[in-house]
Amino acid sequence: MTRVYFLLGGNIGNREELLSEAIRKMTNQLGKYIQSSSLYETEPWGFTHEQNFLNQVVIFDSELAALDILDKTQAIEKELGRVRKTTQYCERTIDIDILFYGDEQIENERLSVPHPRIQERSFALYPLKELIPEFIHPILKKSIKQLRNECTDELEINKFN
Ligand code: ADP
Ligand code: MG
Repeated sequence: MTRVYFLLGGNIGNREELLSEAIRKMTNQLGKYIQSSSLYETEPWGFTHEQNFLNQVVIFDSELAALDILDKTQAIEKELGRVRKTTQYCERTIDIDILFYGDEQIENERLSVPHPRIQERSFALYPLKELIPEFIHPILKKSIKQLRNECTDELEINKFN
């Protein structure tokens, strides 16, 4: 049994509904749902026509290997990720990233765990800090709280509703 930490995010379509639908599907397929953070809204940078991003960290306990989890979360992205505006028009609406797989380090063609950009992104660090401020990053050997305090990401992020 491994505790797995995910970052969910999306900026297209009904963002809240897509996040909860993703969590529902993950609960059916991955193992035991443990906890999820508040929703955080991030301003898009630069020019964009899309909505702001909503992000959420979700925790599961799973018996599955990390690559099997990736297979399942990518299938869920596919199931949820297509808004059929015309017969051919498809957009990705949800991104499911594995942030941590216990305290394991995984490096292969398909997977880098811990996710290599956690420490640079306030939209990962804020919701992580809400749930697991004392968790030690297995490579950087610093707590989430510490990483959050040291992060220079200027992107505006707000708790949603
Ligand atoms: P991004 O998440 O960078 O916006 P994608 O969701 O399209 O982009 O993912 C691109 C690839 O990243 C995936 O095909 C997957 O194999 C790889 N990947 C590497 N590490 C991870 C991880 N920790 N979690 C999810 N995907 C990962
Ligand atoms: Mg991704």
